[in-house]
Amino acid sequence: MSPQNKLRWLPQDLYSFAAIVLLLLTLALTSWFTSQHWISQRIGTQLEDLHQQAALLAAAATRDLQQSRHQLKSIARTLASLSSTRAFVAAPGNSTRASLQADLERFDSGFGLDGIWLLGPDRQPLLPTPAGPPPAEVSLALEQDPGLRHFILEPERRQATFYYATPVGAGKREAILLLRSAVGGPARQAYRVSLLVTDSQGLISLADDAGWLQHVLRLPGAGTTPAEREYPRLPLVLSPLLPKVLLLGDERTPVLLVSHAPEEGGYQVHAMADASAAYRLALEQDRLATLITLGATGSLWGGLLTVLTLKRNRRHRLVMGRANNELVRLNRQLKQLATTDPLTDCPNRRAAEARLQYELANLQRYNHPFCIVMLDIDHFKHINDQHGHDTGDEVLRHFARLSRKTIRDTDILARIGGEEFLLILPKTDHQQGMHLAQRLLDTVAATPLYLADKTIGFTFSGGLTEARKSDGTNQLLVRADRALYRAKDNGRCRICSENLVLDHSVAVG
Ligand code: GH3
Ligand code: MG
Ligand code: MG
Repeated sequence: MSPQNKLRWLPQDLYSFAAIVLLLLTLALTSWFTSQHWISQRIGTQLEDLHQQAALLAAAATRDLQQSRHQLKSIARTLASLSSTRAFVAAPGNSTRASLQADLERFDSGFGLDGIWLLGPDRQPLLPTPAGPPPAEVSLALEQDPGLRHFILEPERRQATFYYATPVGAGKREAILLLRSAVGGPARQAYRVSLLVTDSQGLISLADDAGWLQHVLRLPGAGTTPAEREYPRLPLVLSPLLPKVLLLGDERTPVLLVSHAPEEGGYQVHAMADASAAYRLALEQDRLATLITLGATGSLWGGLLTVLTLKRNRRHRLVMGRANNELVRLNRQLKQLATTDPLTDCPNRRAAEARLQYELANLQRYNHPFCIVMLDIDHFKHINDQHGHDTGDEVLRHFARLSRKTIRDTDILARIGGEEFLLILPKTDHQQGMHLAQRLLDTVAATPLYLADKTIGFTFSGGLTEARKSDGTNQLLVRADRALYRAKDNGRCRICSENLVLDHSVAVG
């Protein structure tokens, strides 16, 4: 298979090839952009849905917490306004204590509270409480703010708790009524959305997933909180593919976080939505982009290389074609030089002998007769001597031109020596040959060479022989030569054959 055949499937024209490559690239890029757009839209819709769902749940959870908080607040106010409370604060004593203690126990069990303390101005409990003293952290907070509305996680109890404090009495007699209420888990775990609540320090106080409790929720990029000194951070990192999505934990679960902060209360409700589906789409989109980029780069390079190869092949073919043409031309020239006489443009002796062999073969195989006539210009030395060598050359050229015009197209006139020529007459018998030779003799004798200052007439003698089947080239030439000598001997300007002599009486001028 030639290299050209191998590349037949390729468009040979570079422009059409480039157009096809461009078309394929455009198609690939268009489908890529379309699919990218489509996937981006799907991701956007999914994230928007998730965001809405999460925001709704966070708002609902916040509402619930606010309600619990308000409930605690109204209980605290009612307790503070009780006559037994005010009486005890105004005059602490056994009688007032008993009545207050009874009221407090009633409230504690009646409203499912988790502890009620009445603290004196030194923040020490004025009454014994089954819940024990309030946590040091709360006592500390009360130092700064007696009207505390606090929401904390008590890590050792693994329980999110509201603390609510309200002052009772005034001046030196001022006391603080502190209430504690446990807050139940959000219990709102919805499909793909989990809720968690952080306190003012960012510590996760309530969570659908118990494993998240006692962790600090800090968004990537946000500042550290004091709670981080004590508690580990919930492992959250930004996702490289989707700006709104975070990756959670070692499994790097994609989540969408929506936070809701109530106006008061010092806590935040967060809804964490599972964004795996959208993230999978983003991953696919990313892989597709990589694939398309690789494919497009590959096909561009492939196209470029093919174009370069085609170009090189074409250049190579052109160069080879030119070299080949040149070689053919030189060969032809060489053959011409090897077979042509440069002076007269007649075939030379070598070409004449080759032609003789060819005609002899034709005779032997097909019985095609042929004659040859050996021609020699008469007294040529004399012409040279009298008019110069150049004029002699001119005479030779004139003779060749004239003879070629006179003989038939199929006849051949070859120059085989100085002023010796050989006439080969294919498909010509002895008689026809003699006729033609005679006609040539007459024509030459009657057509002198006219030069500017002189006219040179000349004649030739010829020896004719018809070829025989048994002849070789040499035999044939020797016979013709013999006949030529006879013509010379018999007075020149005539044609002699092996057995026939034709005299010619044209005067030599
Ligand atoms: P004849 O009639 O017996 O043939 O006499 P001739 O003078 O023609 O024969 P001869 O063999 O004595 O002379 C041939 C001359 O042809 C001698 C040579 O200088 C001349 N000659 C041979 N080749 C060329 C050539 O290419 N150009 C020219 N101008 N002369 C040539
Ligand atoms: Mg001679
Ligand atoms: Mg001669």
